[in-house]
Amino acid sequence: MSVRVRFAPSPTGPLHIGGVRTALYNFLFAKKYKGVFILRIEDTDQTRFVPEAEGYIKKSLDWLGLEPMEGPGYGGAYGPYKQSERKDLYTKFVQQLLDDGKAYYAFDTSEELDDMRNRYQAQGITAKYDHKTRTEMKNSLTMSEADVAAKLSNGEKYTVRLLVEADQTITFNDEIREQVSFSTNELDDKVLMKADGLPTYHLANVVDDYHMKITHVIRGEEWLSSTAHHVLMYQCFGWEEAMPKFAHLPLILKPTGKGKLSKRDGAKFGMPVFPLSWESENPEDAFTGFKEEGFLPDGLLNFLAFLGWNPGTEQEIFTMEELINAFSISKINKSGARFDFDKSKWFGQQYLKEKDNETLANLMLPFAEALGYQKDHDYMTQVAGLMKERAHTIKEMVDEADYLFGAINEYDEKTLRKKWKEPSSKIITDIIALLNDTSPFDKETIESSIKSYITDNELGFGAVLPLLRIGLSGTMKGPDIFGIISLLGLEESNRRLSILRDEIAINIV
Ligand code: GLU
Repeated sequence: MSVRVRFAPSPTGPLHIGGVRTALYNFLFAKKYKGVFILRIEDTDQTRFVPEAEGYIKKSLDWLGLEPMEGPGYGGAYGPYKQSERKDLYTKFVQQLLDDGKAYYAFDTSEELDDMRNRYQAQGITAKYDHKTRTEMKNSLTMSEADVAAKLSNGEKYTVRLLVEADQTITFNDEIREQVSFSTNELDDKVLMKADGLPTYHLANVVDDYHMKITHVIRGEEWLSSTAHHVLMYQCFGWEEAMPKFAHLPLILKPTGKGKLSKRDGAKFGMPVFPLSWESENPEDAFTGFKEEGFLPDGLLNFLAFLGWNPGTEQEIFTMEELINAFSISKINKSGARFDFDKSKWFGQQYLKEKDNETLANLMLPFAEALGYQKDHDYMTQVAGLMKERAHTIKEMVDEADYLFGAINEYDEKTLRKKWKEPSSKIITDIIALLNDTSPFDKETIESSIKSYITDNELGFGAVLPLLRIGLSGTMKGPDIFGIISLLGLEESNRRLSILRDEIAINIV
């Protein structure tokens, strides 16, 4: 039997990074077993439906290279892959459960449901619609057949609920958590079909997993408790033989390690928690994305792969192919995975270092343009070569190279005050002269002539290089100083050094 897995997001907003991890694990698993990775859009909840969300989900998967092999817009023989287009199927199977006495009609209004809950609440009991309370409610188990028929023919609103028998134990094997058991006494009679005629998540999910021949359900831990209902439904439908294997992924925790990572944590901790940015008129609901923050998709995937899984070796950097080979559900952790933003930056840096300068230059272009920088591709390629060793993101490569794209905005005055000594002015004059005589004007030649100057004059690097750094970039942090000089060129380098000597140092020191 070939592996078929699905990523089944609900289009209720942007795709949270936890959802991306679920997609990734499904993708890796499918690839590993030469199976099929399916995208299914679970859009049966009209109240939470957000039209832009589906496009966002697809764009995110596309950016990350997690392309579905079946799904809406991707083809496949088990479609449609959007639940809103599969209504007839759900109606048919709800009818089957009703006919078999495994489900029942419930006519209770929302007021009546509230009354019931309040009644129990008054006795300190949190009641559910279940084997205990259903006997007191208005449903086809308590009403006469004639009354039910009359209500149905009058077109009264109803829901269909799963009949969960008391005193049974539902046991299933979770590939990550091993054996999991629930007593049916803890389970409510889940609504399968809502008053609007649309199925709930539970019904649609099970009917679709069965019809799409899903072999493994790999999803977030928050669905673990629903699985008992799902298993029960497989039994009610007589589909136990085809029941998929379940694997519930550990929660993703806040950077502090306490509590589940939420969409609001992005703003709180100054980090993205979505793959792409999400626009909204309400600033509270607008989010920046990893892409817009300049993260490379392959570095992000590598980071996400480790959020709840590890290969059991020291190796951390994995190509996609290596991830596919190494991935296994048995190495997924049970406990929550802390979302360590610094670690995502570390991964980003490892990937930037390995990228060629041309590719990086192309990726930097939109970031540079957004800041109004105008430099040709060749120049950009050289900036890439200089900045990639130190930066974590493409955006950082551009932001921190502002002095390579335009004038220096700010000088590190504190360091300049410390480093500017009596002979500094003469040193700068000497270097200007030296650069004038340096040919060819490339990094290696510049480096060797400046270093010879320092040794010949017994100056020490600390008396010269910091001055050059501040004079040319304004800051002490930055890439190789000789590379900066060569990129800025003779004229611009000397112009900046003269400004340092004649204007900046005089004013500051
Ligand atoms: N639609 C559910 C979600 O949004 C899918 C859960 C599942 O994979 O079964 O996460």
